[in-house]
Amino acid sequence: MEPAPARPAGAVQGLGLWLRDRQALLSWLQGGMVVLYALVLLLPVLLPEGGVARIAQFLIWGLWAPGVLLSVLLFGRLWCGALCPEGALTALASRHGRGRAIPRWMRWPGWPFASFAVVTVYGQMISVWHFPLPALLLLGGSTSAAVLVGLLYGREKRVWCRYLCPVNGLFGLLARLAPLRFAVDAAAWDSCPPERARGQRFICEPMVPVRTMDSASPCHMCGRCAGFRDAVRLEARLPGVEVVRGGGATGWDSLLVIVGMIGLGTVAFYWNLGPWHSALRQTLAQGLTGIGWLWPLETAAPWWLLTGPPGSEPGRVVDVAALLGVLAGMTAGLSLMVALPLALATRLLGPWEGRRFHHLAQGLIPLAAAGLILGAGRFTVKLLRDAGWDTTAAPLGLALLALGAGWSAVLITLSVRRHATGTARGWLATGAALLALPPPLATWALLVRIG
Ligand code: SF4
Repeated sequence: MEPAPARPAGAVQGLGLWLRDRQALLSWLQGGMVVLYALVLLLPVLLPEGGVARIAQFLIWGLWAPGVLLSVLLFGRLWCGALCPEGALTALASRHGRGRAIPRWMRWPGWPFASFAVVTVYGQMISVWHFPLPALLLLGGSTSAAVLVGLLYGREKRVWCRYLCPVNGLFGLLARLAPLRFAVDAAAWDSCPPERARGQRFICEPMVPVRTMDSASPCHMCGRCAGFRDAVRLEARLPGVEVVRGGGATGWDSLLVIVGMIGLGTVAFYWNLGPWHSALRQTLAQGLTGIGWLWPLETAAPWWLLTGPPGSEPGRVVDVAALLGVLAGMTAGLSLMVALPLALATRLLGPWEGRRFHHLAQGLIPLAAAGLILGAGRFTVKLLRDAGWDTTAAPLGLALLALGAGWSAVLITLSVRRHATGTARGWLATGAALLALPPPLATWALLVRIG
């Protein structure tokens, strides 16, 4: 019997098929990105300070950081599948590696949060945004680890991206908001005649169980599975609909949204603008002097442990402790201000259920994303000003915040409605949950005003 003809593809579906058939082009693009990445990391270190270093700094922090965040919101993780140099290198290494089994420790579900937190904090410790050598250490170290993992584990897979990449969790959360995703029709998959399936093969490098994939979170949008068994297709959807549906959100996701993206993600841009760091340093110094323990005050911290912002004094060991303390304290404070209203809303909706709390926490992703883009964008503006451009981005920043907050408010309201058992209780819970928005919103608005 002749296999039934495939359904004609719509424009979006056709885009997915187009992507599937352009894998050679994607390989060339990734090769180009690897070369560019190596140049912007190495040239500023090798050449004397000047124009090249500034251009490289602008490309990495002024353009790449906010640009990639925006791209994930718009196109899902297309950046990972089509352009990321680190992903391309780990995949390449994996093709020639040992193909060992993935160890259990690597499958720990807390890595997306833990690696994001460690890299964010360490980035602050060494002022990664300001100097080329710290940037090379952090980004180059991450890429070296990705290549090593590729050489050791998996075969033609992106084990690093799937489990350890510091932005894997962040991008996975942002992709839930994206208006594009690869959708799978499991029934069509199962009923596809063997004659049609024969000869169709693809390798999903980030190891997504494609048949059961119901989230855009793990998918790198590489397009390889498009059209497989007439069941996989690129489709458009309402932005954020996956968050409202809420399936599969976990405690680690909530930790990454509240403590990672909102807490640390805000504090990382904010901690040195107030008196908190010097006050804590002063307190620590007095305490240490009081007990006669002077070495933390006298011993210089090596640059790879602490590099202050441009123009600051060389750091001492006590400065490292003060920085870690202020980051931890401020992050905990902001995270609590966000988590408590959500916890109250969860309880108002019935007996305590962690699953419900995690569902509501996902509604904060748009505001958290706006904050991160704004933080990275501040650096873009600073670099443009340093280059002599008279730039002000305050109105754009406030508009971005308003958009993020509004989007979060809608998602939270719709999410609460999926749990509300009675109207009054539902509205009360909505009001409580929306109280999670003002603390980060006010912090970011203040940051925009400071400029
Ligand atoms: S599920 Fe895998 S193969 Fe399919 S588009 Fe996503 S990353 Fe590529």
